[in-house]
Amino acid sequence: SAGLYLVATPIGNLGDITFRAVDILKRAEIILCEDTRTSGKLLSRFGIKTKRIAYHEHNAEKMRPEIMDRLGKGQAIALISDAGTPLINDPGYKLVRDCQTTGFTVTTAPGACSPIVALILSGLPSDHFFYAGFLPPKSMARQKELTRFAPIPGSLIFLESPKRLAASLRDMADCLGASRPAAVARELTKLFEEIRPGTLGDLASHYDEAGAPKGEVVIVVGPAPAGSDEPSAEDIDTRLRELLQNH
Ligand code: SAM
Repeated sequence: SAGLYLVATPIGNLGDITFRAVDILKRAEIILCEDTRTSGKLLSRFGIKTKRIAYHEHNAEKMRPEIMDRLGKGQAIALISDAGTPLINDPGYKLVRDCQTTGFTVTTAPGACSPIVALILSGLPSDHFFYAGFLPPKSMARQKELTRFAPIPGSLIFLESPKRLAASLRDMADCLGASRPAAVARELTKLFEEIRPGTLGDLASHYDEAGAPKGEVVIVVGPAPAGSDEPSAEDIDTRLRELLQNH
């Protein structure tokens, strides 16, 4: 029936699409995709022939009136992203907001979401967590942002590109504490899925030496150990080394 359907697609393993997702995608009038070719490959695997239209960062403003128009005519419209859950570091929230304001139905076929998959496999506390998305690519801006996240009383989840992984882990070690427990989750649900646990300091050193890993990564950082409002001896040591280096 009419409305906007936010449909999750797999983050690696094609078996992770749900029956309901396939059903909704088959019945929808159109499927909004970030990249119609990328999604075309996925959809054809499931025999979904529904018309695809691009909806991404660069055309969203222009496209929303047309989408609202279609919804007004009673169409069922599905939104997917290249992989995983739409709206999670992917386009969609403004469309949801506009549908709510206008009174159109919005619902979802939930499924794979890399930050949640990383959190539950990390071995770190999952009762409270903060999803921080991507950090700024430049170290200064990244450190500034990390400093704001440092006091959050829960696990922190970051998406990161493999080529910036080592540099980001180093900044995390400096700003959040080198002894904070963490985990790097790589290639989730894929053949070479890997969870590497360790302190931020150890993980930073590991990827400094090993270089950029292959595939996609998520970083999970555990909450600061209880009573560690004061920086640890190790943290002070790191800071001192930094300061001395700059002179
Ligand atoms: N909406 C997506 C989701 O629900 O997973 C996230 C989109 S974001 C643009 C893409 C980032 O998600 C990648 O750079 C990586 O950090 C993370 N990611 C996606 N799939 C992954 C996987 N299979 N393993 C590890 N990280 C993944």
